[in-house]
Amino acid sequence: MRVLDEKLKTLDGYLARFRESGVANRIAGQDVAGSQGVFQSISPVDRSVICDVALGAADDIDRAALAALDAFGAWRDMPALERKAILIRIAEGIEARAEEIALCECWDTGQAYRFMSKAALRGAENFRYFADQVVQARDGQHLKSPTLMNVTTRTPIGPVGVITPWNTPFMLSTWKIAPALAAGCTVVHKPAEASPLTARLLVEIAEEAGLPPGVLNTVNGFGEGAGRALCEHPKIKAIAFVGESRTGSLITKQGADTLKRNHLELGGKNPVIVFDDADLERALDAVIFMIYSINGERCTSSSRLLVQESIREEFEAKLIARVNAIKVGHPLDPATEIGPLVTKEHFDKVTRYFDIAREDGATVAAGGVTLGDEGYFVRPTLFTGASNQMRIAQEEIFGPVLTSISFRTEEEALQIANDTPYGLTGYVWTNDLTRALRVTDRLEAGMIWVNSENVRHLPTPFGGVKASGIGRDGGDWSFEFYMEQKNIAFATGQHKIPRLGV
Ligand code: NAD
Repeated sequence: MRVLDEKLKTLDGYLARFRESGVANRIAGQDVAGSQGVFQSISPVDRSVICDVALGAADDIDRAALAALDAFGAWRDMPALERKAILIRIAEGIEARAEEIALCECWDTGQAYRFMSKAALRGAENFRYFADQVVQARDGQHLKSPTLMNVTTRTPIGPVGVITPWNTPFMLSTWKIAPALAAGCTVVHKPAEASPLTARLLVEIAEEAGLPPGVLNTVNGFGEGAGRALCEHPKIKAIAFVGESRTGSLITKQGADTLKRNHLELGGKNPVIVFDDADLERALDAVIFMIYSINGERCTSSSRLLVQESIREEFEAKLIARVNAIKVGHPLDPATEIGPLVTKEHFDKVTRYFDIAREDGATVAAGGVTLGDEGYFVRPTLFTGASNQMRIAQEEIFGPVLTSISFRTEEEALQIANDTPYGLTGYVWTNDLTRALRVTDRLEAGMIWVNSENVRHLPTPFGGVKASGIGRDGGDWSFEFYMEQKNIAFATGQHKIPRLGV
């Protein structure tokens, strides 16, 4: 309890400035009030008001887009080593304020401290990784033809919009903003309305690290106001979006008139397939981690367990015992494994599935209940006896809720795994190498882990297929999105030019 009290006291110190002056928009290095007034950020822990937040819309986006356009030329042309040095200083700034970021994120989103303290540091890693790529990011190829020497170069596309969700918002923002800045783009960031605090810390840290005014601008507000205006703005060349699949479709429509380039990282209903020859103890740990960590509010969560019928009973029995022992509690308590869900709206959505599961004929084998009435707490939940046609198997619940479905054969496992609109991740547990090769070859997902939970390696491509997204992040894939390719062809001799009108 003492640790929790200390953390609460530290958090109170960090929140004092937000309580006093709220969260302003940050445009061209200046605090700017929202053109539509303010909205309130609410903590899911006890439903208390954290602070006022600037409510931005089209006017604010216009101002920010013009600031990003103004700052673009100088940022693009700054020597790569200087840009690299600034990105490294941003990483150092994040590390220096990691505790502040983690505590504010926990209070704003309900995520447990044990995960958010790591997420803050992963934000710094994102900046360090892309800082290391800055120098060669624009390098191209030379492609010789019989008559021409072709030289390719890459140039940053221009000011870009970054629209982020409320789940691990700080880490996800850095995941988009760091490569954009490394490429030489300037950014207008529209953070999720449910989690504005750490986006404010990020722009502050970046400016303190020497990022010139206007290179990163933050406009708060709702999707249909600020978000939509960002997609529609003619000076914004591309939108990097992370959020729900149906919002991804809106982003595409809204950007059509200005021919926006979009990168969409969307929802998932990811399968974890456990075959009876797997290391079942490790599989159990991974199954639990990948749905109950980060409140299950995680795009890559394995929310469908496909377990082979021969081991189902034993595996589910162990699962139930472990799920019932998961600690739900105050997010700042380092012992807590699951904190409250982010908003009332999301809490209502997740808890509705407790009834839907029963209506559809599944068994609520663990959880399925809410806790207290102060905040948005639920018990981690397991549905068993489900079929893949049920809504609990088809729809993204995005909470600590796992649906278990049994299968008999490899073919059936694959059929169930692929029978969903989504295709973000897949997890396969088997000790049969040839089976692993066959199954991963046919599994419809952008990323697959065999005998492992999701372990992110930054140079690898991250993204989904089907309704889970379009485009890839990571390594050079990020630069492909934030840059334009240019080909320049030089004649190497006096090749014959077709002559007309001679
Ligand atoms: P959301 O789509 O509701 O909101 C995401 C962001 O989009 C917010 O900033 C919101 O204000 C904005 N937005 C909403 N409507 C908009 C519009 N019409 N135009 C422009 N912007 C608009 O998503 P959420 O509920 O905040 O986040 C959870 C979702 O994000 C889940 O579906 C999850 O799977 C997904 N997600 C995907 C990944 C991935 O990498 N694939 C990662 C994290 C989260």
